[in-house]
Amino acid sequence: MSKPDTIAAIATAAGRSGIGVVRVSGPRLESLIQGVIGKPLDPRMATLAEFRATNGETIDQGLALFFPAPHSYTGEDVLELQGHGGPVVLREILKRCFELGARAARPGEFTERAFLNDKLDLAQAESVADLIDAATAQAAKSALRSLQGAFSARVEALLDAVIELRALVEATLDFPDEELDFLKQHDADGKLAAVAVKLSQVLSASQQGSLLREGFHVVLAGQPNVGKSSLLNRLAGEELAIVTEVPGTTRDAIRQSINVGGVPAHIIDTAGLRESSDPVEKIGMARTWAAIERADMVLLLIDATLGETVADRSILERLPRDLPRIRVMNKIDLAGLAPAVRKEKGNIEVRLSAKTGAGLEQLRQVLLEMAGWRPDGEGLFMARERHVEALKKASSHLTHAKGLTTTLELFAEELRLAQEALGVITGRYTPDDLLGEIFGRFCIGK
Ligand code: GDP
Repeated sequence: MSKPDTIAAIATAAGRSGIGVVRVSGPRLESLIQGVIGKPLDPRMATLAEFRATNGETIDQGLALFFPAPHSYTGEDVLELQGHGGPVVLREILKRCFELGARAARPGEFTERAFLNDKLDLAQAESVADLIDAATAQAAKSALRSLQGAFSARVEALLDAVIELRALVEATLDFPDEELDFLKQHDADGKLAAVAVKLSQVLSASQQGSLLREGFHVVLAGQPNVGKSSLLNRLAGEELAIVTEVPGTTRDAIRQSINVGGVPAHIIDTAGLRESSDPVEKIGMARTWAAIERADMVLLLIDATLGETVADRSILERLPRDLPRIRVMNKIDLAGLAPAVRKEKGNIEVRLSAKTGAGLEQLRQVLLEMAGWRPDGEGLFMARERHVEALKKASSHLTHAKGLTTTLELFAEELRLAQEALGVITGRYTPDDLLGEIFGRFCIGK
């Protein structure tokens, strides 16, 4: 690998703010520090300093922090220049760092260096981005748990258990005469079963975490005036703050994302689905239909004082047949009905009033239940789809291994493949292209 160069970036968000941070990382920063500050810095001490341009003029005054290698975020020398948070000032400070030999950091490059210098494993590095992108407080909490290593520790424990079992089998392969006795003596079957159980626990916690990260997609259907906006506002509550935009989908189809009990719900509005000859509107509708194809459920709003209409039925008929649906009878305050959840022959109906809020909590529960959320949210990992896939793969190899204790070579091979799948999660065995893919999605300066 080539010797790392020095990288620099503005680490705080673009725009105006009280304080802005320029971050620099490289193998040796003494001369760069000399160039900007004019004197050496004590390690890990906040120093009030003037940041200087080439001609000696002061660009800004702020705090400088020096973290000598290896005790820094990246494991290299790291310098943080905390100046005033104006875009011009920060750009000038950055420019000065470039003059002194640094180059612009790519997105995620600081964290990539932390990974390459063993400061973080891959799952932890990913959780840095997940924490920054977290859409709900609960998502942030799980991302932090992963960052602090809770998820990695569980995966490493699984890896160790698989490796131990492999060692046992490989040893047996060398003594073919005694192989079956030897395995029995060491309870290979029991050990395999124990790993499989632990793996399924981690998988289940990860699938929940993945839901917390990705959220679920709800198609919202119903006639004008039935109360769709009112219901959305109610569901969103105080956190109407639209949480995230879903990658890969368009603004046209996904109007907003709300927080349902800590899980992001992405609402696909069908309001625009009508016959039209307008080309722009047609494109919008095509996108909405594409989003509907990938949705997890449909919420059909019905005015309880009117009942289901012909137009409602025609929308329902056009939706994918196996898309789970919830009928929401709204305006029960006008219809004189009580809030309720009714489940009959696979049909779910929730009666509520978006106006008074009656029945709202029941709807939240139904939504979360249908999304596959289990409310024991504490031990979750902010897992990504990639992790869930790797765990599933490992799990299937362990399942295959189960019937193979009499054909040791095959048994050993399944264990090896399980180990490989698990190793990809923390980055013990990670192809370079995956690294590019993961770190390329970070923001610059992280
Ligand atoms: P949308 O066109 O489907 O988005 O419907 P809106 O949310 O704009 O609601 C249409 C009208 O119905 C508004 O005047 C709301 O205040 C009213 N509305 C919505 N939900 C309820 C409800 O549960 N009870 C009553 N009484 N009025 C409601």
